[in-house]
Amino acid sequence: MSAIYQRVALLGLGLIASSMAHAMRRRGLAGHIAGHAKSAESRDVAMELGFVDSVHESAAEAVAGADLVVLAVPVGAMGAVAEAIGPHLAPGATVTDVGSVKQSVIDAVAPHLPDGVHFIPGHPIAGTEHSGPRSGFATLFENRWWLLTPPAGADPAAVVRLRALCEGMGANVDEMDAAHHDLVLAVTSHTPHLIAYTMVGVADDLRRVTDSEVVKYSAAGFRDFTRIAASDPVMWRDVFLSNREATLEILGRFTEELFALQRAIRTGDGPLLHEYFTRTRAIRRGIIEAGQDTDAPDFGRVKRD
Ligand code: NAP
Repeated sequence: MSAIYQRVALLGLGLIASSMAHAMRRRGLAGHIAGHAKSAESRDVAMELGFVDSVHESAAEAVAGADLVVLAVPVGAMGAVAEAIGPHLAPGATVTDVGSVKQSVIDAVAPHLPDGVHFIPGHPIAGTEHSGPRSGFATLFENRWWLLTPPAGADPAAVVRLRALCEGMGANVDEMDAAHHDLVLAVTSHTPHLIAYTMVGVADDLRRVTDSEVVKYSAAGFRDFTRIAASDPVMWRDVFLSNREATLEILGRFTEELFALQRAIRTGDGPLLHEYFTRTRAIRRGIIEAGQDTDAPDFGRVKRD
């Protein structure tokens, strides 16, 4: 495939940015890849692993001459990075981001971008519980959704070009407005993470069950919560602070459902529980049929004897 952008600047060199670099490299989607991260350590690792062609001490230097700039820092840092690069962006460049929340990122970033620069926010629905420049891999986005939330009046040619890059990295692309994105993700990602954090916290607090029992018998379900609850604390703090309204709305509904199930358990309402769990099982089937997870037992984990 020929290069879609001649010079890509990755601001942030963690899981998402390094995976993008590996994926772009594999398919030849970018000419030069310039990188910047806050710490010299991450910049050094990026050079050592070789997924960038150059690293820069400042974000402003990294974006010079770039036709695509990717903001791949925690949501709470997007505004400050945008402010630092605003005056240094090349005319006609596209700026995108990969933040897990869209409206607050748009509010923080857009005011700092000059006229003539195309801002097309985005969010790859792909990730792991690992972070940092060593955690990335080229296939992270394969058959995953990449949501773009172009503002009204966005340049169609710039959107088509960014779509082509995301598709070149293996993703399927959809477009929606930012507020809708934030509600959808509150249901599919943000609230489930909060529930996982809570469940792991409860187990940690429960003194009648020893720590060694929690670890030893974790395969009964708890282990899958712990994977989600091991996600990066900075990223997730920022997600909840910046998608407050949508997360609170979904949490309110969650609490109502939880009370309904609690009452069903207390009153011995077996039919209600059975009907409820039958409905939720069908959702799992739908996810597998859509190719978004494996139907192998235990998520395809390999047994170690
Ligand atoms: P990560 O692995 O923790 O990497 C974050 C990177 O941002 C690091 O390289 C960090 O530099 C850099 N950074 C932080 N503050 C900065 C600043 N002020 N200036 C310059 N660089 C800064 O995070 P990630 O998982 O790639 O997440 C990045 C973005 O993708 C977040 O907005 C997140 O919401 C979004 N996202 C994450 C996932 C996921 O599952 N992880 C999925 C989809 C979208 P240092 O290493 O030097 O600290």
